[in-house]
Amino acid sequence: MVNIKICDITLRDGEQAAGVNFFPEDKLRIAEKLALMNVPIIEAGFAIASPSDFKGIELISRKIGVSNGPVICSMARAIRNDIRCAVEALKYAAKPRIQIVFSTSDIHLKHKLNMDRSQAKDIVHEMVSYAKSLIDDVGFIAEDATRTDINFLVEIFNIAVNAGANIVGIPDTVGYSTPDEYGSIVKAVSVSLPDNITISTHCHNDLGLAVANTLSGISAGATQAEVTVNGLGERAGNASLEEVVMALATRKDIYNVDTNIDTRHILNISKLVCELSGINVQKNKAIVGANAFLHESGIHQDGMLKNTQTYQIINPEQVGWHGNQIVIGKHSGKKVLMSGLKKIGIHLADKELEEFFVKFKKVSSKKKSITISDLKDIANNH
Ligand code: MN
Repeated sequence: MVNIKICDITLRDGEQAAGVNFFPEDKLRIAEKLALMNVPIIEAGFAIASPSDFKGIELISRKIGVSNGPVICSMARAIRNDIRCAVEALKYAAKPRIQIVFSTSDIHLKHKLNMDRSQAKDIVHEMVSYAKSLIDDVGFIAEDATRTDINFLVEIFNIAVNAGANIVGIPDTVGYSTPDEYGSIVKAVSVSLPDNITISTHCHNDLGLAVANTLSGISAGATQAEVTVNGLGERAGNASLEEVVMALATRKDIYNVDTNIDTRHILNISKLVCELSGINVQKNKAIVGANAFLHESGIHQDGMLKNTQTYQIINPEQVGWHGNQIVIGKHSGKKVLMSGLKKIGIHLADKELEEFFVKFKKVSSKKKSITISDLKDIANNH
């Protein structure tokens, strides 16, 4: 079975989310959890961006980047100083990697870099060669790849590979692509490169398509996926680690790939990233949202009590959730209510339950949520 390598970029792209600042010690705490869940590649930061980025990469390289640990990587622009700085920050890592990022779309070349395609090709060749002379594991990332002329994209990736890049990244930097389009870009790149070159996805969520685009890229031949915990990242964020990993695990029948991620740590790391980033996930967020595995409708609750597979596609324990998934509210039926009441020590005879139920429906219709003390009040007053 094909192995999809998860490259977590929470500590770099995730940190670029507005208002987020991970201190080096914060990054270490997150990296420890990523290593615990078997994430094979951690992008720890952008070494030249700030002394704190440099320190974070160095700390993670030393503590986590051991020989049987993950690959640790730093981002660098296609500039000698950036590359030297990244190599320096990574010096304690047993498996260091540099990801060289360079814009390839005409809109970026013209307005951001003020250069033409032929200058771009020269720089990519020169800087990838330079990085390769210092470090063995070099990725070349074509910023704004999805808005780059496909023939030029293929050409520049071939230049990067000939200069020594062993990974090419296809970022949908502005979250503009669609699943069909993204898959076809990956396919076109894939057929043009030798088999031993890894193709990496990197999808932003501006249209809510980051995970769908990532999965489409994987179906088309990408074997590395850049993702972040909770989908944290610039603007609307990146493809979320938990959604990509669980989609691949839950629909193995379709994707037929493995990630080797120990998914039981997913909830735990999600909570840590919420705490350290100051950004909570919404309640209805897939996999890690507070409501992701809760059932309130009477019909669903009845099904769940008979067989959880009726309304649940993932065993919540598989991603770290424990405890009750049935919520008592105005949609709840009698059976669920009775079992809920028993759990809090209220035992009602059939006739009492009928009365209780009528009262419960009245009270629950007027309240946003029902608490244990509401249930006790109703029981005591009926
Ligand atoms: Mn990005």
